[in-house]
Amino acid sequence: MGLLALGTALDWPEAKTKAHHVRAWGIKQLLEIWNKAKVKERDAMLWGDEVEYLVVTYSKDDPKVLLSLRQADILAALAEDKTLAKEITPPASPGGTKPQNKYPSPVFHPEFGRFMLEATPGKPWGIDFKELLHVEPDMKLRRAIAKDHMLPNEYPITLTTFPRIGSPGVFTDPHYPVSGPKLRSQFVPDEIANPHIRFPTLAANIRSRRGRKVQVNVPVFRDENTPWPWKDPTVNYDLHSWPEDDDVRNGAAPDNFIHMDAMAFGMGSCCLQITFQAKNITEGRKMYDQLSPLGPILLALTAATPIYKGFLADTDVRWNQISKAVDDRTAEELGEKPLQNDRWRIPKSRYASNSTYISEDPRLREEYLDPNLVIDPEIKQQLLDGGMDDRLATHFAHLFIRDPIVIFNEDLEVLDLSKTDHFENIQSTNWQHMRFKPPPADNNIGWRVEFRPMEIQITDFENAAFSVFMVLITRVILSFDLNFYIPITKVDENMETAHKRDAVLEEKFWFRRNLFSSRPSRSSGSGANTPRSGGGSRANSRPPSPVGPVEDEYRLMTVNEIINGDDEGEFPGLIPLVESYLDSVNVDVATRCQLARYLDLIRKRANGELWTAARWVREFVKGHGEYKRDSVVSEEVNKDLVGKVIEIGEREANGEGFKGLGDGVEKLLGGF
Ligand code: ADP
Ligand code: MG
Ligand code: MG
Ligand code: MG
Ligand code: MG
Ligand code: MG
Repeated sequence: MGLLALGTALDWPEAKTKAHHVRAWGIKQLLEIWNKAKVKERDAMLWGDEVEYLVVTYSKDDPKVLLSLRQADILAALAEDKTLAKEITPPASPGGTKPQNKYPSPVFHPEFGRFMLEATPGKPWGIDFKELLHVEPDMKLRRAIAKDHMLPNEYPITLTTFPRIGSPGVFTDPHYPVSGPKLRSQFVPDEIANPHIRFPTLAANIRSRRGRKVQVNVPVFRDENTPWPWKDPTVNYDLHSWPEDDDVRNGAAPDNFIHMDAMAFGMGSCCLQITFQAKNITEGRKMYDQLSPLGPILLALTAATPIYKGFLADTDVRWNQISKAVDDRTAEELGEKPLQNDRWRIPKSRYASNSTYISEDPRLREEYLDPNLVIDPEIKQQLLDGGMDDRLATHFAHLFIRDPIVIFNEDLEVLDLSKTDHFENIQSTNWQHMRFKPPPADNNIGWRVEFRPMEIQITDFENAAFSVFMVLITRVILSFDLNFYIPITKVDENMETAHKRDAVLEEKFWFRRNLFSSRPSRSSGSGANTPRSGGGSRANSRPPSPVGPVEDEYRLMTVNEIINGDDEGEFPGLIPLVESYLDSVNVDVATRCQLARYLDLIRKRANGELWTAARWVREFVKGHGEYKRDSVVSEEVNKDLVGKVIEIGEREANGEGFKGLGDGVEKLLGGF
């Protein structure tokens, strides 16, 4: 995360009075960047991933597995290690390809949870196909380096969430009592958050702006012996330390939902993000739009979050829980009370799927946009007056309906147009599933687009597979000029669908039928940028359709149809498209073989041959001798689950493969 400047962070009542000031200066900074960078051309095609870890303490003899709160010490140990500052040569890729370049050593970052770490490559990856093969070894190296700077009983693991975070009793090392002044949570202590003033202030000001604690309610999974209706047995209705303790007495914890009350339950989850640099702003805007409809599909495919606070949930992914964990909307903005003090009703949390498209692509029909998009019309006018086009001005005028949450007094003295701090204040607390990242003020890099919905996977093999897949998809989009547009409200709907248990196999998602359709106003074929072989040519051989009703352009499809193509041969499937793209460019055999491993994993996750992590975790719990079919994930089950994940990690680190691990690991990772 950026924005780690120090200073005096304002409490909400005071921050609120400065919100307009920050927005006004943020817009000036944005226009400054925009005017400088809109003409930037020929930036290199670069990309980079972000992997987030939980740090746990585990030993075979200790009955408990705990979250280690030593983030700061681990980061300090990493920073002090002089051997890491040198360039390093990544280990040879699986398959024996020798990396040709040296890479600077990975970069480690703090995260919201004091039990989390983030790692990115030491420099972004380039366009060369061979570099795709360096991703997995680099991810493994990052994990090994992180582990080397931990205590012997600490491990970096890539489960999205710690299954028993917030359960009664001890779940952190060291242990702290609950209900601190910042979070006011009855389940997690303030010490769970990164102590840097930005993080507790973010949590406290979100709570304060909202007027009550956040309510993260996730439906409990109903098993044979789950009492029904189910009342979350961990909720304490008799606390009287803070005014917010009334929340549960006022109905914050409904029956049949696991109830959580703090930002840590959302922002304490780990994800896999990919940032792409485009060659210019036009290409960046196009990538933003075209990757948007893929968000929910990749969320369902990477599903990895079936447990919260010691209970099996009835959903498979983290997304909505994070959304609720940082939802700062007031009762008026939520539509629970008539508007009096606030400016508008806001349909979504500031953490949500994105609400608008931004490209000036002629294929973008008006009907794809949300007619109810909330924007700040004054901000939009300022952007238009500053020379920005309508569509991009609309996007930023939407992001700028939010208040800045963390404001440092020192930053409000002089407006510095050589910085982007006020713009980033709003931008970086709009956590949408895509982020359009303008160049920094000095313009030394280009326009970037971040793809944010994916859940972190248990192994680096899987994390590399999904990262590489997204890179290949992006190249296919650009070289075949694919068209994934559907109405943005259908993307929202898909995002909800992605939460359902086993959505990857059981649900259908809205998806565009013809990815090769050209501009709506013309009926000519799509010309030169078409694939030479594979499924794509089938779709392309259909006569281009004249403009019809938007509803005819998309239909419901399974993830398997979207990824692997449909049986009727009407929809080519994303993997066959990637294959035909790879056929059309020069990729050496060794590289192609490695890429095939990654595509194979994704193909099998989509067709059900392999399980998602969510499914694997559910099956692990169900198959555990101590599980009583009552939805409870006990300490013992939790310990064995984390133990298994550590064992998988050790296998991977030793390059031994995943065969013979038992406990369903074959269904998760197959013969890889
Ligand atoms: P944030 O947390 O704001 O998303 P990070 O710095 O954690 O940002 O991660 C950004 C990712 O983008 C990293 O993987 C990094 O390698 C990558 N990256 C950095 N510069 C570029 C660039 N110019 N183009 C594409 N990716 C980049
Ligand atoms: Mg992060
Ligand atoms: Mg990051
Ligand atoms: Mg950041
Ligand atoms: Mg990121
Ligand atoms: Mg949403």
